[in-house]
Amino acid sequence: MGFFTVYILMATVTASVLCLERWRPASVTQQGEWLNNATAFLLITISQGLVTGVWATSETRLINGLGGGLIDLRGLPWFVGGAIYLITMDLGEYAFHRAQHAFPWMWAMHSLHHGDRALNVTSTNRHFWLEPMIKTFTIWLAPALLFKVSPAMLALYFVAGFNNFLTHANLRVGLGGLSWLWNSPQYHRLHHSVEERHHNANYAALLPIFDVVTGAYRRPAPHEFPDTGLDDYAKNPFELMVWPLRRVFRRAESPG
Ligand SMILES: [Zn+2]
Ligand SMILES: [Zn+2]
Repeated sequence: MGFFTVYILMATVTASVLCLERWRPASVTQQGEWLNNATAFLLITISQGLVTGVWATSETRLINGLGGGLIDLRGLPWFVGGAIYLITMDLGEYAFHRAQHAFPWMWAMHSLHHGDRALNVTSTNRHFWLEPMIKTFTIWLAPALLFKVSPAMLALYFVAGFNNFLTHANLRVGLGGLSWLWNSPQYHRLHHSVEERHHNANYAALLPIFDVVTGAYRRPAPHEFPDTGLDDYAKNPFELMVWPLRRVFRRAESPG
């Protein structure tokens, strides 16, 4: 799939979810940070485009094309091989996310994502621009070296990845008793919550089963849609570019 097709798809999904957010918002009081999130998206696009292309699956396709992939999944039915690939990729995302909350130098970057005081579909790609580069050489590289997959198997994970846009949506939607099965706006909203009782829970990207297994699963109560964000947030697009070093610049701006 071409570079521009992917961006048209992302824009279409974002626009559709923005419409849904007007229909059933989880919060009507928090104001979206459109300029900050658009800047973060632009920076991510540039940094990711410089390394692997636009999506994690591009790296697998590239490395498989160069002869990489120790275990050949292509003999399996597409949905079985696709499920193995999806679970492996999602486990990598899960481990990376846990590390982002565990190691101060990684939190220094990830806090940009959590700083969004009005979680909505445009928060999806609000990440520090260096992070996709780190993923390229770690959690996206490992499955690409491990598995040889078919285009249909790649497509399954590619399509499932669009769920990220939904989970960040400002939508009053959850899966109730099935929240352990698949990530949803309500489930991920708890991960971004301002309330301390919600902290250190619901790290999952696609599959909350990893939270269940590690004891970080917190099932949202039926009407639980907390406010989101951190006290320390990006004041302007420049801070987004230098996020882990923002305090250095803030000190320089206001001596004493
Ligand atoms: Zn997080
Ligand atoms: Zn998030």
